[in-house]
Amino acid sequence: MEQCAYIGLGSNIGDRELKLLMAIAELGKLPQTKVTAVSPFYETEPVGGVPQDNFYNAVVRLNTELAPLELLDRLKRLETEVFHRVPSQRWGARSMDLDILLYGELVFNCEQLTIPHPGLAERRFVLQPLSDIAPDLVHPILGKRIIELLTELASPEQVVRI
Ligand code: AMP
Repeated sequence: MEQCAYIGLGSNIGDRELKLLMAIAELGKLPQTKVTAVSPFYETEPVGGVPQDNFYNAVVRLNTELAPLELLDRLKRLETEVFHRVPSQRWGARSMDLDILLYGELVFNCEQLTIPHPGLAERRFVLQPLSDIAPDLVHPILGKRIIELLTELASPEQVVRI
């Protein structure tokens, strides 16, 4: 059955804008999947204290028939095969990071995959672009709209629309 999924994209190595554009094109090429919305792009401060370049972040909405674990597998393959992502330290620099933020109203947890993404509600670099394309979407665990989560966020992280 077709589901609506939201994917978080981030890159801070190389031509970051081109990388986001390439990732959107690759998402559109996934089987049984269509890109149905793309957020503006943001330049964002890295979180986690590792010195590195700023990220470019965006969020994409997909309509997909891929099951959650199948979608995760496809995203990981894009990270390594298309963007040559190498294993890095936690919070380290990355050529491309693709996260499943939400998948319909699914609440799911296994060793490889947690949906909704556990960092979703604390990260301005996710909430800001997500609220641009889905402000009224309700977080299936917290029961709050994305725009409310963004408004309530206390973190001082800088995100600048490019
Ligand atoms: P990252 O460093 O952000 O690429 O995440 C590393 C691992 O997080 C991946 O290998 C996934 O197995 C796991 N993971 C758990 N939940 C998610 C999710 N919602 N989206 C993407 N990766 C996830």
